[in-house]
Amino acid sequence: MMRFEGKTALVTGGSRGIGRAICLELAKGGASVVFCWAGNGAAAQETARAVEALGAKVLAVRCDVADAEQVDALVKAALEGFGRIDILVNNAGITRDNLLMRMSEADFDAVIAANLKGAFLCMKAVSRLMLKQRYGRIVNLGSVVGLRGNAGQVNYAASKAGIVGMTKSLAKELASRGVTVNAVAPGFIETGMTAVLPDSARAAALGSIPMNRLGAPEEVARAAAFLASDEAAYITGQVLAVDGGMAM
Ligand code: NAP
Repeated sequence: MMRFEGKTALVTGGSRGIGRAICLELAKGGASVVFCWAGNGAAAQETARAVEALGAKVLAVRCDVADAEQVDALVKAALEGFGRIDILVNNAGITRDNLLMRMSEADFDAVIAANLKGAFLCMKAVSRLMLKQRYGRIVNLGSVVGLRGNAGQVNYAASKAGIVGMTKSLAKELASRGVTVNAVAPGFIETGMTAVLPDSARAAALGSIPMNRLGAPEEVARAAAFLASDEAAYITGQVLAVDGGMAM
């Protein structure tokens, strides 16, 4: 039996990058996958086709995770499609980098809304179901930046540090009911998010990675899938760094 057979996974921001790799990793394990995306319909279609090619069922829903009504509609669509949600991966995220003195209030708010409030809304929307089922796996995407800070990313670091606090708090709330809540904290991963960084920033990041290379989305996806699996049943409230040793 495949490790996610009979399970339904909801992945936010599944159209590209790490989220897409997580959708594929869960599908490979036999999960039915519901994922959402924000604006890039072509990328979402590509992910949906790739999931289907693995023989898994898939549902792609356009949803801004920062909007409570859209999140409720996403969860409703998942339940209509597959009847249950066993795994939630809060992966959707954005950056709006700038030094604090030049950072606009709008850029601070946008990052907190997508990265932190989005995860809050999704966890709130599924936790009642998971409690009823007495089963659930929630995996949140943090970042090495939420653990160590990074110049130019006050907003992003705050959102990702918030993810850690939220993960540990909800883990305590749900632990006795078979629901685990953990986080993965990637380092510097090759995706659209990091492709836009200037060469100088990439070189500086590389210099702080003991393994001396960037990570691949699939390497983060395998860690997320482990935390979403039954093999991780006795692990909750943890933050697993997948960063080539960056945050040691
Ligand atoms: P990415 O390639 O930029 O992809 C971001 C994904 O999130 C896309 O699918 C995007 O949808 C979706 N998204 C963005 N805002 C959304 C919103 N408001 N509602 C719903 N979906 C939204 O990013 P990534 O590098 O894969 O990052 C994925 C996660 O890992 C993020 O939480 C990020 O902070 C975290 N992370 C990444 C790195 C890294 O080095 N790449 C390091 C540490 C942590 P569209 O395609 O429709 O735009």
